[in-house]
Amino acid sequence: MNLQNYIRDISNFPKEGILFKDITPLLAEPKALRETIRQLADRFKDSGATKILGAEARGFIFGAALACEMGVGFIPVRKPGKLPHKTLTATYKLEYGTDTLCMHADALRAGEKILIIDDVLATGGTIGGILQLTSQVGAEITGIGFLMELSFLNGREKMLGHRVESLITF
Ligand code: AMP
Repeated sequence: MNLQNYIRDISNFPKEGILFKDITPLLAEPKALRETIRQLADRFKDSGATKILGAEARGFIFGAALACEMGVGFIPVRKPGKLPHKTLTATYKLEYGTDTLCMHADALRAGEKILIIDDVLATGGTIGGILQLTSQVGAEITGIGFLMELSFLNGREKMLGHRVESLITF
């Protein structure tokens, strides 16, 4: 099954000049969604991870499904003001300006093995923010996985030294 057939290109969304990779056709097709999770689980089956981290919103979809498949826990990384308990915060650079992500301070233990999952690797800014959060706890990142990677944006440079897996590369 070619997963790429289930990704729809939308021009000029959310702003002029961006080619948006729409995953909703893939989510709507049970075989494609199942295959995505199966392939991610296969890539990381030897990771030894006990938790998966995903950032809102699309990291929740693949991260939580993969956590079920692998029999591990899921940790939501969210925008400020959404998590109810004590949080850790990371602010990271975007092309223009900054953004902030939060995680519950007790979500991970030092040395715990984790996977980070998201739908798209673009500039790598979001993952950079998640890496800041996990380094505050001292968690061990055993892998970073994506459904797709926009390789021309060189996001991998923000994850040097980590194992990075993408099912589709553009
Ligand atoms: P990044 O630039 O790697 O921090 O990308 C941030 C997030 O924006 C990713 O997790 C994607 O969900 C989303 N994203 C970035 N670029 C695209 C794109 N061209 N199409 C769809 N989603 C995108």
